[in-house]
Amino acid sequence: MEFVNLKAQYRALKVQIDERIQRVLDHGQYIMGPEVAELEEKLAVFTGAKHCITVASGTEALLISLMAIGLKPGDEVITTPFTFAATAEMIVLLGGKPVFVDIEPDTCNIDASLIEAKITDRTRAIMPVSLYGQCADMDAINVIAKRHGLAVVEDAAQSFGATYKGKKSCNLSTLGCTSFFPSKPLGCYGDGGAIFTNDDALAQACREIRVHGQSVRYTHVRVGVGGRMDTLQCAVVLAKLERFEWEIKQRRRLSERYRELLNALVGVQLLALRKDRDSAWAQYTVFVERRTSIQAVLQAQHIPTAVHYPKPLHQQPAYAAVSRDCGLVASEQAAERVLGLPMSADLSYSQQDRVVAALRVALA
Ligand SMILES: *Cc1c(COP(=O)(O)O)cnc(C)c1O
Repeated sequence: MEFVNLKAQYRALKVQIDERIQRVLDHGQYIMGPEVAELEEKLAVFTGAKHCITVASGTEALLISLMAIGLKPGDEVITTPFTFAATAEMIVLLGGKPVFVDIEPDTCNIDASLIEAKITDRTRAIMPVSLYGQCADMDAINVIAKRHGLAVVEDAAQSFGATYKGKKSCNLSTLGCTSFFPSKPLGCYGDGGAIFTNDDALAQACREIRVHGQSVRYTHVRVGVGGRMDTLQCAVVLAKLERFEWEIKQRRRLSERYRELLNALVGVQLLALRKDRDSAWAQYTVFVERRTSIQAVLQAQHIPTAVHYPKPLHQQPAYAAVSRDCGLVASEQAAERVLGLPMSADLSYSQQDRVVAALRVALA
């Protein structure tokens, strides 16, 4: 059993993927080929956002977004410590300061009610992370941002395909950033990512920053990066898009099934799913005690698990010094207890039953 079954996905889509890759090899436009614009158009339609700018990775999407809003050294960005390092990393890389706000203990997403108390004269933006595929309370966050004139950058690396009050993740704030890392809900076969926005000026800025700040070739109107997504990777995502709606439905079906099966187990606490949103189920994460021993029991039966994340960022050496935060108790407790179970559209019911049976044994 695999944590994310990419081989079965390839088998199901082999004809489309091979054909798409071959087409790129035949036309030879490896950088900014026609598949780049085609993918950007399709993803914009999918999310409902006016603009989509594909970039080299999810990390690059965050970096370019923060550059586009003009983040300066000393600026503060409010975010969650319970996330992948890239979220805070790009803030620090630009000389900014991540200001960590604790999470809701039941969803593991940033607690919107704690944000306003952390706003200062130096605050420039709020960066919620749609962790495990479920969006944070974006309406509440947008209201606070509007009141204080702040940008909202959604780290939607794990939530492409999720909805919040009927609207798609990536189209819920000033800028939305996603990742096409192979194991994300919509993945390519290497690195890739995308930025979404409804703001024409920000879209233009992101497009320029992506290609070394060029407005037209060899006219560098600003400082940028080499942040393009390869044509080949765009071709892979285009092929995978054909089945993506089905995959999201399948992930939802599997998560509901996990919920039913695990509800009966003592010693497993399920993540809360808010009524006004649908997760993309990038991960199926539960809370357990004695995590290490449970993982060992599952591993012995060849059932892979994962911990996202074992330490909140304010406790990581690289960020402890820049953050100086305390009182992030919910994040610290979640880091001790979260356990990710195998999840992908191609996980079979019998595999899922095996996972649950092994957990039952491990908890006994
Ligand atoms: C995966 C991930 C990223 C980084 O995306 P890459 O494409 O790997 O650069 C950023 N933030 C979160 C929350 C992620 O899960």
